[in-house]
Order: sequence, then structure tokens, then C-alpha cells
Amino acid sequence: MVLDITTLRVALGVVALTLLLLFYASFRRTRSAYNGWWCIALLFFLTGNSAFLLNGTPHQVWANPSGNALLVGGAFSVWAGARSLRMLPAPRWRLAAACAVTVFASLLDTPGTNTWSGGLAYLGFMTVGIGLASLDLWRLDSSYSHVHKSMAIAAGFLATYYFGRWVLFLAEGQSGPDFRLYFGPSIASLVTLVLLVAVSFSMTALSNDQLINGLSERAARDNLTGLLNRGTFLDLAAKELKRLHATGSIASLILADLDHFKAINDVYGHAAGDAALKAFAHACTESVRATDVVGRYGGEEFILLLPGATQERAESIAADISRALAATESLDDMQLPTVSYGVASSPADAVDLTTMIAAADAALYEAKSLGRNRVVRAGRRA
Ligand code: GH3
Ligand code: MG
Ligand code: MG
Repeated sequence: MVLDITTLRVALGVVALTLLLLFYASFRRTRSAYNGWWCIALLFFLTGNSAFLLNGTPHQVWANPSGNALLVGGAFSVWAGARSLRMLPAPRWRLAAACAVTVFASLLDTPGTNTWSGGLAYLGFMTVGIGLASLDLWRLDSSYSHVHKSMAIAAGFLATYYFGRWVLFLAEGQSGPDFRLYFGPSIASLVTLVLLVAVSFSMTALSNDQLINGLSERAARDNLTGLLNRGTFLDLAAKELKRLHATGSIASLILADLDHFKAINDVYGHAAGDAALKAFAHACTESVRATDVVGRYGGEEFILLLPGATQERAESIAADISRALAATESLDDMQLPTVSYGVASSPADAVDLTTMIAAADAALYEAKSLGRNRVVRAGRRA
């Protein structure tokens, strides 16, 4: 059976165009970055594939290098989509560099007469782009449906296939019998068709998961400071405290309240007040460990649960936060506020979260009445 490459390319183009329209409709609804990157990848594949239809014409000299680079751009866009699911930044420079190297390799390789100009670079970058996408899909956490594992396997299979093409191209060249039989453009088009069907099957699930994860992340956070909001903090901290008690570990809780904050708003304006709140949130995250739980309790009050921290350690962290805030670059000549803290420790002050917060709140009240800008421990004066 002889597979006609032009017919296959047209069929692949029609499938890619249909998927592009479907994925774009879905992207307009979900705004999922994964979905968006797949639209870009399909555009690359469509235009790259169309460029190869010009092989054998006088246009081959520019169309062949362009086709190679566009398909490489498509593979790297698939990788960018997989990274977006893991909240990693898009590899824009690596995408551009891979396309540029592919174009140069093709141009140096008589593209007017050679339909496989720059073949090694093209096959190599296809392997790398799809292989990296496979790795990132595999590493997704459990907040995504299991379909990502099947996608990772499908992409892994395609990357292996491209690696096989690369090895055989290197070993026997484009006219080698095995390369032509198993790894030529006809079989590659068929394999790509199958992969596109697999992708369309997983698209709804993965882009919906990305949408839902994004929404729940936003719902969990205070949108001014980016810290956990009160509800999420209380849920997470109660669970963490329970876990710590079950293992006999200690924890400390800090309540912080910015001093005379109303005056900041009155003197410098509300926007400056917001900037001061952000600066304090930044000072907090800078001074604690990744395992500590930090939230905006309300207004200009903040709350921190420090698993494993003694009372003394928590007091020294509170002092660190104030130092970090004071060291913040001045925001439009605004005098940053000082901060008062109440610190409670478990199990000395309480074992449940509500009672610990009440103890820290009483200590904070004490700190205010003692003149502010200080740390007071629950149960006695500092
Ligand atoms: P104290 O030292 O006793 O804590 O005095 P204070 O002025 O900090 O306390 P008070 O409770 O009188 O005022 C808190 C102010 O915080 C009042 C409110 O307008 C302001 N505030 C609360 N939330 C925000 C916010 O999101 N942005 C800004 N800019 N101000 C806020
Ligand atoms: Mg207050
Ligand atoms: Mg205050």
C-alpha cells in the first residue's frame, strides 16, 4: 500500500483546522492557557503543514525552512501548554530560539532542492518539544483529572517516534529504506492524526480543570495582598493544628495589626494605604517559611500560624517582619506604619484554633494599650 503524502497532508490540515475552531470556541469560554496554547500550536501545525505542500515548486526554497520552523514552533507551543497546567511560565525564548535554529539549519542545507533540508535540527527539536510536554503532563498534581497521564503517555510515544526518526535520519539519511518505510512523512502524518484525536478527547477535561483550579485559587486568596483570605486561613490552619496535635508537635499563632493605619489613609490617601498593606504582606511572606500559613484576617489585621515554632521563635519572627517592613523602600515618601503583635502558643495557651486566636487577640489588645509597636505574648506582658 502506498500512502499518498499530499492527500495525507490535506487530511491532516482539515482535521487540524476543525480542531482549531473547536478549541478556539472552548478557549473563549474557559480562557484556559492550556487551551490557548493548543490553538497556537494548531495554527503553527496548519501553516507548517501547508508550507510543505509547496515542496517541488519554485517556492520550496523558502517554504521548506519555514515549514520546519513552524512545526517546531507547534511542538514547543504544546510544551508551553503543558507548563501552563503546572503554573510555570511560557518558554517563549526557547520556542523562538528553536524555530530560529531550525530555519538556519534548513537554509544552510540547499532547501530549494532538498525537501529534508535541516532535517536533523527539525527532528531533534520536535523530539525535545514533545518530550518536554510529555514530562510536564506526567508531573501534574492530583488536582487534574487522570486524563493527563494518558496524554503524557501519548506525547511520550510521539516524542519516542520522533527520536527514532532522528536516529535513523542520522544513521541512513532520508533515502534509507527503514527511514522511508517507518519514519517517512506519510507515517508521521498518520501518527500525528492519531495524536490530535487523543488531544481533542482530553481538551475539555484539562482546560476545565485549569479553569476550576484558577477560580478556586482566586477564591482562596485576598486579591489585594495575595495572602490567604480569612475563611481559607481558618480552614487550613484548623486542619494543620489538628495534624500537629495528633503528632504531638507545637505551633504558634501571631495576630498582627498595623498601628494608626487610619491615619495613613487620611494623610496619604487610600491607594497609599493599599500599598502599605501589600508591603506588610510582602514582609510577612519574606520572613516566614513555606510551610507557615499566612492570611489577611480583615482590614489591616493579619494572622500567621507557624507549625513547630516555639513562643520565642514566633516572637522573633514578628520582630523580623517589622524589620522587613521598615526596610521596605519608601513608597512615595510615605512613612510606613509600625505594627503590634499578639502571640499565642499551643499547647500552652490553647489547643484549638478559636481559643488560640482569642488568646493572641487579647495579647494584641495589650500591645496596643501598652503603646503599640511591640510584641506581646498571650497570658503575660512582654
Ligand atoms: P490602631 O493602631 O488602634 O490599630 O489604629 P488603626 O487606625 O490602625 O485602627 P482602626 O481600626 O481605627 O482603622 C483601621 C483602618 O484600616 C480603617 C480602614 O479604613 C482601613 N482599612 C481597612 N481595610 C483597608 C484596605 O483594604 N485598604 C485601605 N487603604 N485601608 C483599609
Ligand atoms: Mg485593626
Ligand atoms: Mg490598626
